[in-house]
Amino acid sequence: MNIFIYSTFLLYGIIIGSFLNVCILRIPNHTFFEKSRSYCPKCGYSLKWFDLIPIFSFILLKGKCRKCKESISLQYPLVEALNGILYVWIAIMYVNNPDLNLLTAVLYCLLTSALIVISVVDMRTYIILPQLNIFILILGLINLVFNLGEWYTYVIGFFAISTFILILVLLNAMGDGDMKLMAVSGLLLGWKLIVLSFFIGCIVGTVVHLWLMIFKKKGRQLPFGPYLSVGIFLAMLYGEKWIEWYLRILF
Ligand SMILES: [Zn+2]
Repeated sequence: MNIFIYSTFLLYGIIIGSFLNVCILRIPNHTFFEKSRSYCPKCGYSLKWFDLIPIFSFILLKGKCRKCKESISLQYPLVEALNGILYVWIAIMYVNNPDLNLLTAVLYCLLTSALIVISVVDMRTYIILPQLNIFILILGLINLVFNLGEWYTYVIGFFAISTFILILVLLNAMGDGDMKLMAVSGLLLGWKLIVLSFFIGCIVGTVVHLWLMIFKKKGRQLPFGPYLSVGIFLAMLYGEKWIEWYLRILF
């Protein structure tokens, strides 16, 4: 039974991951709704259905265009595999945690996919896509409708970190896309988990970015979306446990 759940999540994860690549490619160019088939950017070869099977086509083609042998970006299979693996991770938490219901697990999967698109685009362009923030807002509203008894947890979550980041935005220390991301994610996860997300994001961001600056001579400009996304993902799955553990040590 569990194997069935895991493989279902994996399959959906990989297929949706394939769609995420389309989002990453097309939303920043405003070509999302254009009805064109995927094609090779070098020779214009229009990809057939058998060129578009997630992960497998990339392996069979050895990462090259079928016609002109131009290299295909490794980003495509990586995003598909990552989305699939993270869905299975969520499925494992769902199977082992009776407090996590199926609706929440599905909302978590969709949030994770949105975070992948946000992170990849932020790393490339330093922009947090507003379309994806709106998508997370919708997920948060769906969750709110099903948990109206605890509406204040989620409404406070919307403001908890975002109002703090607003100060940083006014000081030009952070982008308003980050602020909106933390607002809508806070609405979905509640105030405790979004505060924890921000802490984890800051710690991971500081460690990784210092390493990049020292060893890779990268500049100071910091795309914060990927770090916030890591924080949100970990807090979403382990936050309740970590906060409980922390409070037990403290008191
Ligand atoms: Zn080609």
